[in-house]
Amino acid sequence: MIRVEGLRKHFPGAPAPALDGVSFTLETGQLAAILGPSGSGKSTLLRCIVGLERPDAGTLHLGGQAGLVFQSFELFPHLTALANCTLAQRLVARRPRAEAEARARSLLESLGLGHQLDAWPETLSGGQRQRVAIARALAMEPAVLLYDEPTSALDPSLRREVIETLRRVGGLGMTQLVVTHDVRLARASHQVLVLDQGRLVEQGPPAQVLDAPRHEATRRLLVQED
Ligand code: ATP
Ligand code: MG
Repeated sequence: MIRVEGLRKHFPGAPAPALDGVSFTLETGQLAAILGPSGSGKSTLLRCIVGLERPDAGTLHLGGQAGLVFQSFELFPHLTALANCTLAQRLVARRPRAEAEARARSLLESLGLGHQLDAWPETLSGGQRQRVAIARALAMEPAVLLYDEPTSALDPSLRREVIETLRRVGGLGMTQLVVTHDVRLARASHQVLVLDQGRLVEQGPPAQVLDAPRHEATRRLLVQED
């Protein structure tokens, strides 16, 4: 579960706060999509949750560490899929090799990559590389997984694959927060949060927020996407 209360972040010298009293709750195993125009504070929100930025005020309850999956899903090119998923487990979490490998294998299998444990990143498709990156993040057993625009650089078929992968990860019981401009991905989520000028202006299930938007900022986003 994620509980965010009154989160505020004002970068020194900036004319307005990047986050201005953001509060929301996301239940364990749920997927939330964060929509909002450029500069509305989406990345800042993720960076505060994962600890890359220090908020000026507010509280965060995650029940553990957050894991951030970067947009470009960079894998270590000189390591196999399996080794990509064991490195941090061994170096950071200090797990023994056998334990790290067992966990990595099981996660890669659950994301449909059981036959590609020994593959090099350059031989994998874009979608497969993404799944390895997600398995690598999951291997560290974060309490929540955060994604910053995972589909923005992808063609439509790969976007569908990412949506399918996020669903599978949700099926593993993972709480996920995804920043996206992709309305289809927002539709596949449990909750849609709309940020505008650092404020959470609308929040609810996709059928409510996307089909009956109440806030002008949400309407503007949906017009642009269609
Ligand atoms: P985009 O859709 O373009 O990625 P975003 O919603 O992710 O936008 P943020 O990157 O969170 O927006 O930025 C929110 C505001 O905070 C912007 O006005 C931005 O210029 C400002 N900002 C972000 N990071 C910093 C920083 N390190 N220093 C100063 N200002 C920053
Ligand atoms: Mg951003």
